[in-house]
Amino acid sequence: MIPERFPGEIDALFCHNHNCPDYGLRKNGNLWFCGWSGKDEKIRMVYCKTCRKQFSERKGTVLSESRLPEEKVISILDHIREGCGTRATSRLLHVCKDTVTQYILKAGIHAKKAHDDLVSFSPSQQRNSNR
Ligand SMILES: [Zn+2]
Repeated sequence: MIPERFPGEIDALFCHNHNCPDYGLRKNGNLWFCGWSGKDEKIRMVYCKTCRKQFSERKGTVLSESRLPEEKVISILDHIREGCGTRATSRLLHVCKDTVTQYILKAGIHAKKAHDDLVSFSPSQQRNSNR
């Protein structure tokens, strides 16, 4: 199969192989979409031409290794974000409360990593304590 490259979408991804020289680099030109996976083949596979490894476009996200449809996961997290409790979300969406808890945990871990990546700058000067 000939790898495909969609510039707008592929640029948001990066290689997840810790041993790859291009690990964690976005917009580096090393990634290509190379096929589909999942039950209905809706999940794109990504190929890194540097290390020659493949991974799912969902790797490193809340949807990684998810067995629920994407819309259901998003709905679970929407309910939680809007203040609906775990049990109420479970009842409304007809999923096990442990499933709701699992996605809350995954979303929290993902949010912490995103926060640490995006807000890693810390001012070198300390603030005046009078402020
Ligand atoms: Zn790589």
